[in-house]
Amino acid sequence: MALNIQNKLQQSQQSFKKWKNIPFEERQKYFAKLSEILRARKQEFGEIITQEMKKPISQSIAEIEKCATLCDFYANAENVLKPEKIKTEFQISEVHHEPLGTILGVMPWNFPFWQAIRFAVPTILAGNTVILKHASICLKSGDTLQEIFEEAGFPEGVFLHFEISHSEVEEMIANPIIKGVSLTGSEAAGRKIAETAGKNLKKCVLELGGSDAFIVCEDANLVKAAESAALGRLQNCGQTCIASKRFIIHEKVFDSFLFLLLKNFKKYEVGNPNDAKTNFSEMAREDLADDLEQQYKTALENGAEYILPLERISKAGFRPGILKMNVENPINDEELFGPLAMVFSGKSDEELLAIANNTMFGLGNSVWTSDKEKALFFAENLESGTVSINQITKSDVRFPFGGTKNSGYGIELSLYALQEFTFKKTIMGN
Ligand code: NDP
Repeated sequence: MALNIQNKLQQSQQSFKKWKNIPFEERQKYFAKLSEILRARKQEFGEIITQEMKKPISQSIAEIEKCATLCDFYANAENVLKPEKIKTEFQISEVHHEPLGTILGVMPWNFPFWQAIRFAVPTILAGNTVILKHASICLKSGDTLQEIFEEAGFPEGVFLHFEISHSEVEEMIANPIIKGVSLTGSEAAGRKIAETAGKNLKKCVLELGGSDAFIVCEDANLVKAAESAALGRLQNCGQTCIASKRFIIHEKVFDSFLFLLLKNFKKYEVGNPNDAKTNFSEMAREDLADDLEQQYKTALENGAEYILPLERISKAGFRPGILKMNVENPINDEELFGPLAMVFSGKSDEELLAIANNTMFGLGNSVWTSDKEKALFFAENLESGTVSINQITKSDVRFPFGGTKNSGYGIELSLYALQEFTFKKTIMGN
């Protein structure tokens, strides 16, 4: 391992020894300061995001505001890591929640500040220190995050950003200083990180892709559903893990919903990401656009039909497309990470549910109906970490966020996230 990486690992380890002994309530004060910095400089940080991955500036600024909200939540969170007394015959009978140590975060480019903050804040508040390996197109975001943790007064080494290669990530996970790893990204990267973590007996959290359903029942408010469907699928240029990607429509409202969906899709045209009015831009990288175009062609070759063609208009820019899918199409098991929707139709609620669950993924489904009982039927039977009713799936710091099936495992956000990188120490006796 390169000497500079070994030195930084040791710095993180030294910092952990002091940080873990600072009381929870004292640690919380640093997050309040971090929130202030994020809000005060949201324009500047938003511009970094837009420059790195082309997100429309209004959405980049909203991402920074969301990071500040997350910091506020944890700055005021109940201390769920207090020692717990267990009633037994012993005089001393307690469970302590102890931090693990230095945790590595491997983070993606689609929400350059949010994904890193979402992982780092609860992990650090629990008493751990963090090393971030950011996506190779988001190094300025990574450096800026380290700067603002320092500016907020966090002791040196509590949050460090390293520019490292994939093989160095592997070496780092094997290093005894690293006690756990969290990855947000593709299924392929998840398998690789989990394999390395498993080999080295390190705790691992995986937030991977999704191909979630947006179910439109026959009694849904179609106007609201179609407007939200377009927003959910196309914001961030379709590059969102929890965006609905498969639209599963009751046959009785199929034509009317599609008419409205088309109308809404046509409102999204590639604009200058630096313009505050732009709602849609190019994809983050040309190779990701190539992949999406290839998936579109494969879907058509395997029996899908286009309702709105996906049109490549520049190196990484598209006019959004809609595909009418057949259930046996191999693309059903792939994540479409760009401005392309898949639609299906079903004859009954049971059939809509079966199509929705017919995927390897399970991150965040959404169901649209005006009947509360029907909504509950879907909520109880959909196989995903989140079920949203009459709204698109969005992460909310107050609720746990995570997937099932090939969308990964482990929890982020909410008070539950504070427990992820801790171990439970049993203390008992007289
Ligand atoms: P990746 O999953 O490859 O990248 C995510 C992060 O993991 C980056 O920091 C990347 O580093 C790192 N990484 C990838 N492979 C390894 C490895 N073997 N060892 C160590 N680190 C690794 O995403 P891509 O950018 O290539 O996007 C490909 C597809 O992944 C997308 O089209 C989409 O389907 C999915 N994706 C899903 C996301 C989600 O939020 N669920 C987010 C991003 C992508 P580096 O940048 O240096 O390669």
